[in-house]
Amino acid sequence: MSYSILPKKHWKKHDYLLYSYDILGNMLRQADSKSLSTVKFNLKEDEVESFENAEDIFEWLDNNGYHKIALSQFTSHVFFSLLKDFCYYIYESISCSERGKVTVAYSLLRKPLRDNLLYLEWLLANNEEFYQKIMYQDIDEYDVSNRKVFTNERVKKIIKLASSKSYMGESLNTNNLIYKFRFESKEEMSLQKIWNRSMHIVTRSNNYRTERNNLNFIFANLDDWNKFWDYYYTVLPQLMAYVLEICEAIFLSILEVDEFNILLNRMIRLAKYSDVSEFIETSMFKNNPSNILEILDEQNASITFECELCNEVIELNKDILNQFIYNWFVTCTSCHGKHNICRYYTNFDVKEK
Ligand SMILES: [Zn+2]
Repeated sequence: MSYSILPKKHWKKHDYLLYSYDILGNMLRQADSKSLSTVKFNLKEDEVESFENAEDIFEWLDNNGYHKIALSQFTSHVFFSLLKDFCYYIYESISCSERGKVTVAYSLLRKPLRDNLLYLEWLLANNEEFYQKIMYQDIDEYDVSNRKVFTNERVKKIIKLASSKSYMGESLNTNNLIYKFRFESKEEMSLQKIWNRSMHIVTRSNNYRTERNNLNFIFANLDDWNKFWDYYYTVLPQLMAYVLEICEAIFLSILEVDEFNILLNRMIRLAKYSDVSEFIETSMFKNNPSNILEILDEQNASITFECELCNEVIELNKDILNQFIYNWFVTCTSCHGKHNICRYYTNFDVKEK
């Protein structure tokens, strides 16, 4: 894609940010189209009346032997709600950055990356604990901005545990990178430091004290601005790659997806990430997708999907796979219409040849 205000050196990363945003947005669309936010279950006949009269449905479920149902209902409802809110903020932030409104772009990252993401991580790390706190304890116990309860150590632990339950989250959080970006104000270029400066004209805290005779960001020169703009594209692609891992893990706990679809999603998104990554060794990701074709060949199988425009079947061959990896669109072999590929795939068909 091309952009009018954004410097060209950021275009590739900007495209990656939009791509990852689109995948999350697609999970939300699937939540609607497949009604994933609500869990269906059968009540016994003599339970119907008391269920319908219950003041709190979750409490009723807990007290009547349906705790598992309550927990999965809670997990999917909270996941999609947090994710929707996350997406609203992130999209506006990315859009502000594209238009050069850098301080606003940073400010808009604070809530989704510090709060929403931490709740998502908690949901993945230990949804039972999250549920118990929110249902039966004081809000102080589940307010993640309450740093007396959510101490640095506890936050670090939640991030570690959540990332270990995802596919690539641990690698993306190497050396606590994901934690440091969001919560470590002593780090030279932590987001925390930038957030405080972008939200307040003067800051007095030792870690980000406004310089004498200065006001935060107001007197910044062009060099400073560009440094902050560059940093946005250093840190956010890494964080969004991580968010995809966390959200995939929760999404897959809600919706059953077969292994080939999961594998394909992972291979494609890691190949795309390898193009923008600055922090971890990614050379192995670029070639991985062609392994899929080898595996298929060995099993004498093929993957197909339906063209949304002409309903003809498109087979995943080398050419189509390359389009998945290097482009943002795939061209239908029958009608030559273009498919947006920025989504979480669940509907590829694996068949014997
Ligand atoms: Zn077509």
